[in-house]
Amino acid sequence: MKSSAPNPLETPLDHIAGVGPERGAQLRRLDLLTVGHALLLRPRRYEDRRHFQPIASLQLREPALARGNVIAAGLRRLRGGRSLFEIILDDGTARLHCRWWNLPFMENYFKVGDQVVVFGKPASLRPRTIDHPESEVIQALETSLHLNRIAPIYPLTEGLPQRWLRSLLWRLLAQFESAIAEPRPELHLARLQIATPDGPLPMPSRSQAVRLLHFPEEAADAETARRRLALDEFIDLQTAIQTRRKNLETNARALPCPGDNRLIKPFLAALGFDLTDAQTAVLREIRRDMTGSRPMRRLLQGDVGSGKTVVAACAALMALESGTNAALMAPTEILAEQHWRNFRRWFQPLGLPVELRTGAVKTGIEPGQEPLPLGRPVSPVSLFIGTHALLEPAFAPERLGLVIIDEQHKFGVAQREQLVRKGAYPHLLVMTATPIPRTLGLTLYGDLDISVIASSPPGRGRIKTFVRQRDSLPKVWQFIAEQLAKGRQAYVVFSRLEEEDSAAGLKAVKKEFHQLEKTFAPRAVGLLHGRLNSAEKDRVMAAFRANRLPVLLATSIVEVGLDVPNATVMVIENAEQFGLAQLHQLRGRIGRGADDSYCILIAAGKTDEARQRLGILEQTSDGFRIAEEDLRLRGPGEFLGRQQSGVPPLHFGDFSQDAPLVEQARQLVREHLFSAT
Ligand code: ADP
Ligand code: MG
Repeated sequence: MKSSAPNPLETPLDHIAGVGPERGAQLRRLDLLTVGHALLLRPRRYEDRRHFQPIASLQLREPALARGNVIAAGLRRLRGGRSLFEIILDDGTARLHCRWWNLPFMENYFKVGDQVVVFGKPASLRPRTIDHPESEVIQALETSLHLNRIAPIYPLTEGLPQRWLRSLLWRLLAQFESAIAEPRPELHLARLQIATPDGPLPMPSRSQAVRLLHFPEEAADAETARRRLALDEFIDLQTAIQTRRKNLETNARALPCPGDNRLIKPFLAALGFDLTDAQTAVLREIRRDMTGSRPMRRLLQGDVGSGKTVVAACAALMALESGTNAALMAPTEILAEQHWRNFRRWFQPLGLPVELRTGAVKTGIEPGQEPLPLGRPVSPVSLFIGTHALLEPAFAPERLGLVIIDEQHKFGVAQREQLVRKGAYPHLLVMTATPIPRTLGLTLYGDLDISVIASSPPGRGRIKTFVRQRDSLPKVWQFIAEQLAKGRQAYVVFSRLEEEDSAAGLKAVKKEFHQLEKTFAPRAVGLLHGRLNSAEKDRVMAAFRANRLPVLLATSIVEVGLDVPNATVMVIENAEQFGLAQLHQLRGRIGRGADDSYCILIAAGKTDEARQRLGILEQTSDGFRIAEEDLRLRGPGEFLGRQQSGVPPLHFGDFSQDAPLVEQARQLVREHLFSAT
């Protein structure tokens, strides 16, 4: 049992001796309200003040840590209200000028005779000069805390001195270190080692980790401390995820959907192609899940174009054969309607109703259902296809046996759960084309079983990708014109009009549109963006699908799911503004037919960096490699940001480098939750 005594770590900081109202307010600006908050303040870097660099050995523009005594200090007022404050430090080997422009109050902080530590990059060596170094005056009495050790450098706020904050943390540790408990004693972490990319290390206790976070004894200690605190964060995440899974397994009873093949057989016979081995293998896993009495929770991961839709169709047929309804949710109206069109073509000959539920259908723009062929027994159960509209209370089918979510990465965990709660406990199949790095997969999909379609259907052309500068656009248009002459179609993707964008974005895309119309005249160009109403979107897509529009200028709205095999060229303007994973996703719209396809990334950025980043797409079409690279370069925002992912921000954990810790946390929580009791 937990005692009900107040947790000392919840002591407000302004109850601490030496923290008055002014300091208290400054700490609040750093979001530090309690002792516990302060103890987890992460230094933004460390200075190894056991070794200073002799001033005589400073190198131009190389970061350096030096100390010395102030031998001169002076403020110069310059013209135009500008000022220059300068001190000269001497450490016995040489002199160092430190300069601050337009910060005249710096004068108050230094006086001749002070001992000063500075960190910065020399801007000149004649005389040796650092502009705007980070600096700290060391008082003789406090040297044990601020000198001769690895010193933490904290994020600050106006008026809060580094030295004061460091002293506060030193005092807080002395007083509260023993109150820092292991958050999950039942996991017995002390018996373990901590996983790192370079192999296991001794596991520090949480209180040791907090101390080492602030006052590491060796350079490596700070990283060890970070890892232990990160492990605790990952354990919390995994506990939430796996508890959801465990509750499902103990409480939930699914409607068994074994199917009997009476619909799948004729469906496959009429399909026009054979399933690949990968598709068949996944279907076997799905059948095993759906036959059981525990609801399926499965993620189907397969790169763009790998053929997930047909697998979804077979799963839906298993549910329908078993006398239950099924629902398929897609993130956009365009995609929902594309699915509806396909599934209707596939299912209606089998006497199965396929109903469309989108925002638009309710307004009567498109009929949601067409009459079934006469003379066939009409199935009492249906497949419902829709957008977020399926989440609304109005959608409440009886006997919902299976829920399928396409392009799951566009939805959040919360929406997934919302749809599943529609039925008693329907089986759930979520599909995603976004290959996500394993660390994130275990976090976002940690409660799901995972199936992968690793290979694409045979007979696909290759996608060749090129990165070009804006000045080669005329050649690019020329190339497209040649492809159009061969009867092919092209996407031109324009980054500037996302749904939330301003009228300015709309103007830009319209201007671009008129330009393209001229470029490709007399061939027609279509325009597709999120601000069109559904009827217009529909009309444009239908025309593009039928090749009445050979060229489609679109925003990244085409990113998900569209399947127009005759489109073989994609030009992406301002490609540098997209993440690599998103570009890969966009590029998946082409390469769906037998012909080779061409993806041309136009980089407006002049930097080599942008060019290099995009170059990865020239080199590989391996979605997982691209995703890992994206995570490394841009952090997890690309994967977590645009959706209500339900993943809280991490203070210590880092998805791009902590794969071993994520695995370790998952293992620990799994052992505890599923083998205990
Ligand atoms: P995604 O996995 O990106 O959702 P789709 O399901 O849209 O891919 O499939 C892409 C294209 O491949 C579709 O035109 C589909 O009909 C076709 N396809 C799917 N499976 C096969 C197969 N086994 N053989 C040939 N073509 C297939
Ligand atoms: Mg798809």
